[in-house]
Amino acid sequence: MSRIQHEKTQMPMQNPKKRIKNFDVVELGYNIELAQQESNRCVNCKKPKCIPYCPVEIDIPKFIMEIKDGKFGEAYYTMTETNIFPSITGRVCPQEE
Ligand code: SF4
Repeated sequence: MSRIQHEKTQMPMQNPKKRIKNFDVVELGYNIELAQQESNRCVNCKKPKCIPYCPVEIDIPKFIMEIKDGKFGEAYYTMTETNIFPSITGRVCPQEE
C-alpha cells in the first residue's frame, strides 16, 4: 500500500516566457507518474465530501483509486459516467481553491 502524500503535486506549466507568445494551454497536465503520485493524497474517506461538492457528482475517490492502480481506462469511464465533458469541466473546476 502506498503512503499518504500531503503535499500537492505541482502541475507542470508552460514557461512564462513562452506562454506570453502563444495561446496554448498553460497547465500541461500530469503524466502517469505524477498522476499516480497525486493520487496518493486521497485517503478514500468513508463519507467522502468531495462527491456532493462536485457539481457533476463524479465518484472522485473511485477514479482516484483507479488511477492509483494504473487503471486509466476505468478512471476515464468513472469520470464520464456523470459527466460527458471531463476535459472541459476539469479546466473550469475551481477545485484548487
Ligand atoms: S478526494 Fe474525496 S475521498 Fe479522497 S480524501 Fe478528498 S474528500 Fe476524501
